[in-house]
Amino acid sequence: MAEEKHSKQQNKTRKKQAGTAGRKSSAARRKKRTGKRKIDRRQMTVALVLVGIAIAVTLFLLSLGGRLSTIMESFPFSGKTDSELTGTEQDEMDVNDDGRPPLDVQLLTPNSYSRPQIALNEINGIVIHYTANPGADAQANRDYFESLKDNGITYASSHFVIGLEGEIIQCIPSSEIAYASNERNHDTLSIECCHADESGALNDATYQSLVELTAWLCRHFEISPDNVIRHYDVSGKICPKYFVEHEDAWNTFLDEVRAAV
Ligand SMILES: [Zn+2]
Repeated sequence: MAEEKHSKQQNKTRKKQAGTAGRKSSAARRKKRTGKRKIDRRQMTVALVLVGIAIAVTLFLLSLGGRLSTIMESFPFSGKTDSELTGTEQDEMDVNDDGRPPLDVQLLTPNSYSRPQIALNEINGIVIHYTANPGADAQANRDYFESLKDNGITYASSHFVIGLEGEIIQCIPSSEIAYASNERNHDTLSIECCHADESGALNDATYQSLVELTAWLCRHFEISPDNVIRHYDVSGKICPKYFVEHEDAWNTFLDEVRAAV
């Protein structure tokens, strides 16, 4: 490079000494220089675009890696994605009515934090949870799941939330996974129960709806009540607290579900 520059400089000096002939060729030189500047600018633009693309790709890969690792750590699932999901807001539960309790269907907006639209290809069980959020009703809990799409605080959701007055809000269609039950997300439905205080005990209205909803889901999806489990049975988490600390109450609940199926 330096060599080439040097010889051009010598050329220039020689042409200057050549008098009128030099004037003639100076126009050509200007033209040449302008052309070179144009090429430089073009090269610079291409380089800037390439750098921009490289930065964008790097940032994208970093964010993807971060998200995936968080999902895998907090809510492992088998990753059965289904590109054929229709994304319809109409859940089949909305039209079938084989003795199901009233459902307030308020499906979450599809988003990677609470409704990733991963297909739930098989349903082998039902996992019961408590909200760990004393006094908050079903709507507040559903809205919390919805808010995750904007704030990205964590990955969490549930198919159903049963409120303090026994109301049931459905957040995720039964054809999609929820982020609730760790490695059982991929083959179970999840039910969150609201509770009034720190004990985690369910009031009568919440408990009654839980029995009815669980029994109906067992009938509707042909799930044995033997496959109704606590979050605790999946991961050892103290959830639902009252049913973990009171094994007898849990067994009574299962008996009531069996009787209602
Ligand atoms: Zn739980």
